[in-house]
Amino acid sequence: MEKEQAIKEVLSEMIVTIDGPAGSGKSTTASLLAARLGLRYLDTGAMYRGVTYAMLREGLDPESEESAARIAASISLELKDEEGRSALYLDGVNVEREIRSSEVSRFVSPVSRHGSVRREMVKIQRSIARAGGIVAEGRDTGSVVFPFAHTKVFLVADAEARARRRQGQLESMGVSESIDDIRENINKRDKIDSSREHSPLTRPPGSILVDTSDLTIVQQVETIEKAVLDVASKLASLRVWPGERNDFEHLALHYGLTLFIVRVFCRLFFRLKIYGKRNLRYREHFIFASNHTSYADPPIVSCGLNLEVAFLAKKELFRNRLFGGFISQYKAIPIDRGEIGRRTLKLIISKLESSESVLMFPEGTRSKTGELGTFKGGIGFLSLHTGTTIVPVFIRGSNELWDCFLRRKRLELHIGPPIRLPVDYESEDKKLDYRLLNQMVFETLRMMKDESED
Ligand code: C5P
Repeated sequence: MEKEQAIKEVLSEMIVTIDGPAGSGKSTTASLLAARLGLRYLDTGAMYRGVTYAMLREGLDPESEESAARIAASISLELKDEEGRSALYLDGVNVEREIRSSEVSRFVSPVSRHGSVRREMVKIQRSIARAGGIVAEGRDTGSVVFPFAHTKVFLVADAEARARRRQGQLESMGVSESIDDIRENINKRDKIDSSREHSPLTRPPGSILVDTSDLTIVQQVETIEKAVLDVASKLASLRVWPGERNDFEHLALHYGLTLFIVRVFCRLFFRLKIYGKRNLRYREHFIFASNHTSYADPPIVSCGLNLEVAFLAKKELFRNRLFGGFISQYKAIPIDRGEIGRRTLKLIISKLESSESVLMFPEGTRSKTGELGTFKGGIGFLSLHTGTTIVPVFIRGSNELWDCFLRRKRLELHIGPPIRLPVDYESEDKKLDYRLLNQMVFETLRMMKDESED
């Protein structure tokens, strides 16, 4: 495929996120950027404002989680493009002007602090962006809503510049407010937004930091547009287009044969169905992060991926020489008591550095119920340290193989969207980034689990 055409196609599927504090210039930047790139614009803040407005209209207390949850679940919110501007419709009525009032601005942060409201909004935002081709803007779009976004931007600006901008924005809507009141409201919202328990405002790892204090809107948009086009160009060259060969899919004969047999077996006896293979069409090796519900997971996941992947296996499994030798052939790496020690870590790093894929189970142990357990960590470190892309994998049914065998259930493997860091990404706080990356993988797996239940 011609390069220009390839970039265009990648661009049309991309998700770009722009996060940052109030008044950092997100809305204007995001809507202009979307228009220039021919993408849709998703204003997530407007949705939280919509819920707040609906609550205030009914005289409800914004601090009450119960009322907020009820309202968020019962209203309909729609974002429509009107003459190049985004407008929020609440239950079919345009409320764009109402949601920008100072009253709504005052109460929106307490409302968006509620976990149940966030879950509801995130569900709507993801369904809007399902086909890609979107510029999303908010506080948590790169960290929680779309951790797998292709380009993430984090905007910052000093307090004075932000207050001035907000004033200009309000004036253009015919609303006049003193700079002191605006500054106070911005500071208050920043504080609540950054310290709340659910999805606090944080710079997502892999994001491009843009300080907009001394930039004009045009400069801001051009800086980000260039970054997005660079990513699109890189992805277009990594992508394996129809008719092209992917060397990363090359399998040794014995390996390929075994995967084939396991796949046929799983299809025949457990009705294995594989979703999301398109997420692997890149010339790249990966860290696969899978949930874990059975000892049978490594062969099931590997046969579904149809790739050579190293995986971690308990040391005891190597005690039996024959079995140990067998699984070593299939790239098993021994680990002690489920913990990844220094030596194992070095071994994994050396595999990733020589472009081998590794399958990991970040929960560390099997979840017999199929629910997602907490992550032990490690994944974020490995990805950041080696620059390897993470692909979340969700397996359903391996803890109930009998039910699959008796045909009441189906064994499912969902291959998720890659979480990729830019090549030149310099972390400011590595420990924080390791933790955030782990959370991003967890969030994506949770999304895949929820979506697979629908
Ligand atoms: O971007 P805007 O100022 O319209 O957002 C209003 C408020 O909505 C923010 O101060 C924040 O409390 C909340 N918000 C959020 N998560 C988002 C977007 C907005 O919590 N993704």
